[in-house]
Amino acid sequence: MADLRITIDPIACDAYGYCAELLPEAIMLDEWGYPMVDGRPLPPDLLPAASRAVRDCPKRAISLTANRPARP
Ligand code: SF4
Repeated sequence: MADLRITIDPIACDAYGYCAELLPEAIMLDEWGYPMVDGRPLPPDLLPAASRAVRDCPKRAISLTANRPARP
């Protein structure tokens, strides 16, 4: 299974911070309330909460993206 990472569209985000409440293990807020992610693959046990954050973001600003395979 591919590693999944959280990405956030900073243009779409309204900086309300709901995602950081849903997934504090992987999303922190900056001083203006915009979410920050470290880009590392999510541990499997966080995938349900990450999926909920994607689904519940009011601005549809969160995505789960898979690693691209390395080019030969
Ligand atoms: S829930 Fe969505 S809109 Fe709200 S801070 Fe997080 S990414 Fe931005």
